[in-house]
Amino acid sequence: MIDQWGRKINYMRVSVTDRCNFRCVYCMPLQGVQLRPRDEYLSYDELLHVIKAGIGLGIDKIRITGGEPLVRPGLVDFLAQLKPLGIKDVSLSTNGLLFAPMAKDLKAAGLDRVNFSLDTLQPDRFKKMARLYGDPGPIFEAVDAALELGMEPVKLNMVVIRGWNDDEIADMARLSVDRPIHVRYIEVMPFSEAYQFTWDNLVPAAEMRERLMGEFEDLEPVREGIKGNGPAKYWRIPGAKGTVGFISAVTECFCGECNRIRLSADGKINPCLGHVHEVDLKPVLRDPQRPVEELVALMSDAILKKPREHNFSDTESDYTLRVMHGIGG
Ligand code: SAM
Ligand code: SF4
Repeated sequence: MIDQWGRKINYMRVSVTDRCNFRCVYCMPLQGVQLRPRDEYLSYDELLHVIKAGIGLGIDKIRITGGEPLVRPGLVDFLAQLKPLGIKDVSLSTNGLLFAPMAKDLKAAGLDRVNFSLDTLQPDRFKKMARLYGDPGPIFEAVDAALELGMEPVKLNMVVIRGWNDDEIADMARLSVDRPIHVRYIEVMPFSEAYQFTWDNLVPAAEMRERLMGEFEDLEPVREGIKGNGPAKYWRIPGAKGTVGFISAVTECFCGECNRIRLSADGKINPCLGHVHEVDLKPVLRDPQRPVEELVALMSDAILKKPREHNFSDTESDYTLRVMHGIGG
């Protein structure tokens, strides 16, 4: 469907849980998420109900996210139902810890591709950033498994934080040389519940590019499309099998090309990461008296009214109340 700004919205990011086996410093408080009654979250049947309504509105691309989606039991069976419904592209965002042993089942269930989060290659730093875990080894096994199964493109997302891991930008880029790995540098968004990052911790994409070009003088822009390339802009170390890309959500707004909405694990549609406004689907979804048309109308209205752009630069705005583990990134 087309929103009020003329953008075609065909992509829904579906968060299946707000729980996680990591506590990344920029995402989740150390004590984890507050326990809530189970019925505050959508069951898989309810998620499928919403997805079907979304398909009626033109959604044909789904990314499963969280929290950490692989910690929710039954995920493979849920995922297996997406392609038969008509979803053309099924992808997953994961921290990768539980991925390798599940990889074959996920592939058989219709998973096309996967994005792994990896913020550092150094075990001691890994422990400092992910806090509950301190070994990047299983994430590399996960990347190997995804490549072996042909889940391309495999993307590695690094949230870059000044003073924490920004000295590893070049090391991370080198991972793209021998294998078709697409390393993406994400500007940290100062969502504040988890850790009090300030704007000084943000490394703008332009600075990251400059620093990479200092290291690899002949970095070349990539002209061909990379599947699911969304908001990232890509470059290549000459001769490399993979690429490096920048997700500059904060400093270089790409809202004009935004094609996505988000469904949270507790049944809320969030049309824009940079605004707090969201639409709770549960009252309609759970009332047997209310027809599916009402659900579709609610979603359609949320899409239509999708804000023109985020308001990250407004440091006083209410978006800082948000936390990524609740929205799915
Ligand atoms: N647990 C999965 C993972 O880490 O990939 C999926 C959920 S996570 C919320 C989705 C993405 O959001 C990850 O790439 C993560 O690095 C990113 N993210 C979380 N908090 C962020 C923040 N404050 N700024 C920028 N990116 C963030
Ligand atoms: Fe968990 Fe992903 Fe958030 Fe890290 S970024 S705490 S892995 S949900």
